[in-house]
Amino acid sequence: MSGRVDIIGLGPGAEDLRCPRAAGALAQATDLVGYVPYLERVAEGSGQRIHGSDNREEIQRARLALELAQQGRRVAVVSSGDGGVFGMAAAVFEAMEQGDPRWRGLEVAVHPGVSAVLAAAARLGAPFGNDFCVLSLSDNLKPWGVILNRLEAAACAGFAMAFYNPISKARPWQLGEALARLRRHLPGSVPVIFARAVSRPEEHVEITTLAGARPEQADMRTLVMVGNAETRLIPREGADPWVYTPRRVGGTV
Ligand code: SAH
Repeated sequence: MSGRVDIIGLGPGAEDLRCPRAAGALAQATDLVGYVPYLERVAEGSGQRIHGSDNREEIQRARLALELAQQGRRVAVVSSGDGGVFGMAAAVFEAMEQGDPRWRGLEVAVHPGVSAVLAAAARLGAPFGNDFCVLSLSDNLKPWGVILNRLEAAACAGFAMAFYNPISKARPWQLGEALARLRRHLPGSVPVIFARAVSRPEEHVEITTLAGARPEQADMRTLVMVGNAETRLIPREGADPWVYTPRRVGGTV
């Protein structure tokens, strides 16, 4: 048997938001590598070998996957959402580039998933109906100064924004500082949405404004969305308002 690595995005949570191609590759795997809570969710009763590790050990996890594949195992490297969006895909390629040259000859495939930004945007309406950008607020692997610069550049350029990894026990103050920085450049009326655990039973959504947003409204499972000056709300009876950003920017045409 020849080994291979399948990098799999599980989607945001709901079973029917998992892409069939990713689900198919996952079912074929002999070994699963990833963050334990995700693996437990997918491996139950499958007989697949689980290689769990802590959330912060991504590079070791990626090396392990490549080693197992080199030994002939069929390895699924699992991320939530999409593996290429703050997930395991880049870690696998980092490990490949730095590691055993034979790893470059392995069969590797990346199977896309529905990333949190897409699931959250769909839940709210169309907040990213126009140009937007996606940032991770985690300063584990990049300096905080770089994050602030990117936030400011995005705000000044008129991008709507989605923040992954907005807050954690180890990073309690960053989101507050990020919001304060945005207030220098954007009107307080810009919509801000805290979308937690989208498509899961614990889903919880809060819609506020940049002036009203508080860091306590986010946790580790929250995607934070910040509109631009054009982002609008359509109120509804008995339901959250729709949030959308029109397709047209500037001018009157
Ligand atoms: N690869 C994943 C992102 C992993 S980073 C993806 O493509 O979605 C982890 C961050 O993703 C969390 O801190 C949170 O900001 C976001 N996230 C993941 N699943 C989510 C969900 N169901 N609802 C809201 N945010 C989610």
